[in-house]
Amino acid sequence: MNSECIFCKIANKEIKTDIIYEDDNVIAFNDLNPQAPVHFLVIPKKHYPSLNEIDSEEAFMKIFSAIPKITKKLGIKEYRTVINTGAQAGQTVFHIHVHVMAGREFTWPAG
Ligand code: AMP
Ligand code: ZN
Repeated sequence: MNSECIFCKIANKEIKTDIIYEDDNVIAFNDLNPQAPVHFLVIPKKHYPSLNEIDSEEAFMKIFSAIPKITKKLGIKEYRTVINTGAQAGQTVFHIHVHVMAGREFTWPAG
């Protein structure tokens, strides 16, 4: 828990959010500023500032294995996953999160 971190506050339920999935390690909630008809974020409850600080395959798997569980529940088969790492790559919240977006066409390369 990092007391300065907004996503730690969400994971700790100090900030009310639209939670769509939760297990012992991970929480998923709708993005405040959605970029697609479906746009949610998957975060570990434990604070890691970015992908660079993920210290075990287990931690990585806990985050990623939640995604197909959530998309299956939502009936989504096609979706884009994005992790922005570092300010230059577009990261604005420094608690690792995976963006999951669906419900529209996505172009490539990402902007
Ligand atoms: P990134 O730019 O990859 O760090 O993504 C941060 C994302 O967090 C953005 O898409 C924001 O819209 C989203 N966001 C920031 N604060 C909140 C919040 N309180 N609840 C839900 N989403 C948030
Ligand atoms: Zn945090």
